[in-house]
Amino acid sequence: MNKYIGAHVSASGGVENAPTHAHNIGANAFALFTKNQRQWASPPLTDKSINLFKERCAEYGFLSEHILPHDSYLINLGHPEEEGLIKSRTAFLDEMQRCEQLGLKMLNFHPGSHLNKETPEECLNRIAESINQALARTQGVTAVIENTAGQGSNMGHRFEHLRYIIDHVEDKSRVGVCIDTCHTFTAGYDLSNHYEEVWTEFDQIVGWNYLRAVHLNDSKKPLASRVDRHESIGKGLISFEFFRQLMSDSRFDNIPIILETPDETLWAQEIATLRKL
Ligand SMILES: [Zn+2]
Ligand SMILES: [Zn+2]
Repeated sequence: MNKYIGAHVSASGGVENAPTHAHNIGANAFALFTKNQRQWASPPLTDKSINLFKERCAEYGFLSEHILPHDSYLINLGHPEEEGLIKSRTAFLDEMQRCEQLGLKMLNFHPGSHLNKETPEECLNRIAESINQALARTQGVTAVIENTAGQGSNMGHRFEHLRYIIDHVEDKSRVGVCIDTCHTFTAGYDLSNHYEEVWTEFDQIVGWNYLRAVHLNDSKKPLASRVDRHESIGKGLISFEFFRQLMSDSRFDNIPIILETPDETLWAQEIATLRKL
């Protein structure tokens, strides 16, 4: 079994607490925020925090390729206005640098929103340029674009959007994607009834070589609703069979598979159940 399963665990009190939380739920992968996700600026990581984080990851056997930091929800790399765009790019660079400091190899983010003030294409171009700027100023960290449910003016709900961004990123070796199963489903890809077709389409448009991570979530909202509401595995509208298929699909080996399901008291049980599938 080469599945690396975990959850987006709390880093409150310091990033060094995240590996302990992940270990306690039986995870061999995890996601975290490296700063307060609801604030633009946070104090820099201390050496003590950084060292403890690395020590605990080593102690519990977490490898950097199975750790998926998520950026702040405030960041919009496709922001149509100068001020918001600069603020977002500055904050994104800080997030990339935090990953560098922690020895992490990926930063997961939602691509961005046009806010009905620019065309979708202009938004995608800005997102790609934002990624290029961040990659030029950092080393060793891959920008991992997450597909979205397509709520409001969010871009990234079509595989074509991910492809378009990748096409416009200069350093292809440091760009990848994270597929969120809830977002995929509510964006209109029928994972319940057309498992193989969806992944064939993903491969043709994006390509398996760009898949870096999965967010494994069930959905409270129906197929193609374009609404982002996660549900615990097996309690939502995606068929349980889908989760069984994914767990036995070797194309999802050796990448972090992260739960962002709403009831964290179920995470240990969800992970144990998934491992048995
Ligand atoms: Zn997600
Ligand atoms: Zn979501």
